[in-house]
Amino acid sequence: MMGCFFCLVFFSRCAGPGQEKQESQYYTEADYYTTKKADTHVHINTAETYFITFSAKENFRLIDLNVDAPGYPTIEQQRSFLIRHIKEFPDELCFCTTFRTDNGFEDADWQKRTIDYLKSSFDSGAIGVKVWKNIGMSLKNKKGEFVMIDDPRFDPIIDFISQSGKTLVGHLGEPKNCWLPLNEMTVNNDRAYFKEHPEYHMYLHPEYPSYQNQIDARDHMLRKHPALRFDGAHLASLEWSVDELAKRLDSFPNMAVDMAERVCHLQYQCIQNYQKVRDFVIKYQDRLLYATDLEVNDSTDSTEAKKHIHDTRFGHWKFFISDSVMTTPEVNGSFRGLHLPKEVVNKIYLKNAEKWFPAFNKN
Ligand SMILES: [Zn+2]
Repeated sequence: MMGCFFCLVFFSRCAGPGQEKQESQYYTEADYYTTKKADTHVHINTAETYFITFSAKENFRLIDLNVDAPGYPTIEQQRSFLIRHIKEFPDELCFCTTFRTDNGFEDADWQKRTIDYLKSSFDSGAIGVKVWKNIGMSLKNKKGEFVMIDDPRFDPIIDFISQSGKTLVGHLGEPKNCWLPLNEMTVNNDRAYFKEHPEYHMYLHPEYPSYQNQIDARDHMLRKHPALRFDGAHLASLEWSVDELAKRLDSFPNMAVDMAERVCHLQYQCIQNYQKVRDFVIKYQDRLLYATDLEVNDSTDSTEAKKHIHDTRFGHWKFFISDSVMTTPEVNGSFRGLHLPKEVVNKIYLKNAEKWFPAFNKN
């Protein structure tokens, strides 16, 4: 039915201040495209730029994390991709560098060499440093013992990062599912990953450090470096329990966590106790960073990648902003969206990234 033009004009002119349509406290699905956002954990292992331009089209700025991981380009190659990208897209992305541990970790000059590499990375624009699960899960010293992140050899490196005003991003340990048999894992993507990577499935390797060893070493490192700004990747490997995560966030005021590849664990916990998860996200709204862990490399098909990037991020957006009942392949069962107020969404999707990575703030 068409409205009468004069009536519409009349009513809009006559609407008093109390009758004006109030701006909604909540975002819509369509707001996804126009709201400024950040994805704080991606890996652009290629000179191709479609990941950056496609993300920018959907209003995402990016933080790329270099990683000392097998199967990735060398850390020097990753850094040179990113130096090139930040020159071409200074407003669209930043990156965190990393360092090697397979280059004479116990040599007398290792710490100096490592600090030199970090310094040259900072001079080239790196805004932080990433450490990966190889520390704690594969690196061994000459005595054959696993080297954990609280090893004193890392102290001068972490002090250097902290004194340089940079952020340490730590993917330390793994989801708790990694220490469970496949049929006891809570989410399907963990089940698929550990089925494919038995070398990382710790349930099969009881001789490796335990889940608790990983968490304790990280917590000990944080106690040794209270001034360090720390971003615990993948919900800081405490993805299985918002209560456990809350305890760490209470203990370490300089710690935030990214949600990369772990939004499904919040969704899983929503099935058990929706209110608890929603209360947690609202209480810790200043400490949670949106992230995906999306990765592209030279063999990625760009058309397929763009679809996957969009679908992943749009699915998460719906979970955070709406109260619809939804499903995802990662989780068995349906769950309700968290329906977070705009103010909370803005923090999780951008403001916290600018706080934990001050150089990321372009305003
Ligand atoms: Zn990652």
